Amino acid sequence: MDISKVFENNEKWIENKLEKDPNYFKELAKGQNPDILYVGCSDSRVTAEDLMGVQPGDVFVHRNIANMVISIDLNVMSVLNYAVENLKVDHIVICGHYECGGVKAAMNPADLGILNPWLRNIRDVYRIHRVELNAIEDESTRYNRLVELNVQEQCVNLLKTAVVQKAVRQRGMKVHGWVFDVSQGRLIDLKLDIYSIIEEITEIYDLGF
Ligand SMILES: [Zn+2]
Repeated sequence: MDISKVFENNEKWIENKLEKDPNYFKELAKGQNPDILYVGCSDSRVTAEDLMGVQPGDVFVHRNIANMVISIDLNVMSVLNYAVENLKVDHIVICGHYECGGVKAAMNPADLGILNPWLRNIRDVYRIHRVELNAIEDESTRYNRLVELNVQEQCVNLLKTAVVQKAVRQRGMKVHGWVFDVSQGRLIDLKLDIYSIIEEITEIYDLGF
């Protein structure tokens, strides 16, 4: 890839936007009011806005390896708190994807240095669901299921936080678990029953909202 092309592409993009709406950037500069917080994987193939067909200003985005919500990660927690408390998003989406290199790397016996503690959280997901996962013989089907279960567990991690418990209970904010199927280009809603999950974990994680 010729990196200087990026600036040519940018000029074309500006022209294209202004052709459709001469005030496009003037309006964009006024501020943001996104309805959705999207937490996805850093994988270059899973481009948040593109696959959802949304425009700049529509979605607040956080991406990291394997779309993780880790309570001591100041980065994801800052994004989450800002999106919920200040931007008042109505929806939070955790979007995983099949063929996730982060999920695969987590399950291979290799020392990956600084990535070890990050990816270990995925091994924890495997441990929680090992009976179901070990029963799946086909390796790629098992990885795909782990991708889905990882999305589910990251939704649970969201529901463990004060900011999400408060927004779900007080203003009906919704949490969604999705998976992007890279080989088909299709976005799949896992249709997780978030309210049952929150009831189930309340005994342990309730923060009193
Ligand atoms: Zn990934």
